[in-house]
Amino acid sequence: MDSLLTTKHHFSSDLKQTKLMTAHLFSWLALALLIVSCSTPQKTGAPLSYDPPGSTNTRTKSIELQKKGTFTIDGVSVSNKFDGARMNAFEKLTDSLYQISIYPENAPINMSPWYSFKIRSEERKEIYLHLKYRDGKHRYYPDHSHDGIQWQPLDSTRYVVHEKDSAVLRLSLTNRYQWISAQELLTSDNNEDWISQMATSDFVLRKPIGKSRNDRELTALQIAIAQKQPLLIVISRQHPPEVTGYMAMKAFVEELISTTALVEKFREKFSIVVVPMLNPDGVDNGHWRHNTGGVDLNRDWQFYNQPEIDQFQQYIHQLVKMNELDVVLGLDFHSTHNDLLYTFNNETFPDQNGVVKTWIKRLREAFPDETITEEDGGAESPVSKNWFLHEFKAEAVTYEVGDDTPREFVQAKGKASARIFMELLLDKYAR
Ligand SMILES: [Zn+2]
Repeated sequence: MDSLLTTKHHFSSDLKQTKLMTAHLFSWLALALLIVSCSTPQKTGAPLSYDPPGSTNTRTKSIELQKKGTFTIDGVSVSNKFDGARMNAFEKLTDSLYQISIYPENAPINMSPWYSFKIRSEERKEIYLHLKYRDGKHRYYPDHSHDGIQWQPLDSTRYVVHEKDSAVLRLSLTNRYQWISAQELLTSDNNEDWISQMATSDFVLRKPIGKSRNDRELTALQIAIAQKQPLLIVISRQHPPEVTGYMAMKAFVEELISTTALVEKFREKFSIVVVPMLNPDGVDNGHWRHNTGGVDLNRDWQFYNQPEIDQFQQYIHQLVKMNELDVVLGLDFHSTHNDLLYTFNNETFPDQNGVVKTWIKRLREAFPDETITEEDGGAESPVSKNWFLHEFKAEAVTYEVGDDTPREFVQAKGKASARIFMELLLDKYAR
């Protein structure tokens, strides 16, 4: 999948918006009027916010499953029969206008409507496709693929956001399937391939640490674990659509298993654990946010109501105890609208006791043309960052990557982050 990362180009959101304003304005305007007249009014939905009410109650809730299949109307077929798909209903509104409805697994829910489906037509046909959300507003710029493996952002002249709640795509259909997806598809099968690839290094041990609610394996990579060492913990993909965070995590970890002198020295002095996909059920079921217990896993870190979090915490505690390890840093990779690092303030975790503030300073020096934004994420909410602090007095960062951040930069920053952290951690703990 690495070739994908280096060949991909994502436009910045601003550029997309500017392009949208140009050539096709008038035809789109006519279409928007058409949609207003022929579709039922959109529910306004909750405002875009970090936490909808009730999301810190992590007791198991019911979820709605999407009906899987291939659905055909007048020769146009849409399918959600693949891992990561989300497509709840397909309708024809007029001769050239079709509609796909996208529902969340349950609600209330964070505003991250994931969609992914493939579409074809028996005869060549140009159609407009309205993406309509229940309990959500449009967020993800569509990606397009001819094989479900190589992805490109959909041409900006073929896409318009309809009053921010929904989107309309213009597609040229043929009898070959084309995939449309909120982000690149990286499912539990892709994760399994990556884990196998990482585990070919002789200092990397693949370790099953439990099962998800739907019986998918939760897997850790144990890298150079040795007695009485400082421990670095890396986790990712609690939130299924957050693919850019997952890409950054992979770049970070790939740097940790490379063979430079710095990395080899780091692996002599430090132990590392990586759990790359904490919510495989949510990923494969095309969820917007939750696991199959209908819960935001990144609000369960004080309660352990969900098996994914409970088994992870038991595994870490056992590993730490058995090897007398000292957890010094926890990193949790996510995605949001823009790149952002959630950290602790100086009162919660004095800067001089850790390495994170220096890491951010060094990152800014490494990428002087980029904005590296840091925000105090607090210390009380039941998220993983605060769990690292309260359980182990460890410093921690929620490493957020923008949805549309160019993939080359996601990778470069992930690798640079790993190098800078290794230098700083060696300096602080292993002189
Ligand atoms: Zn997240």
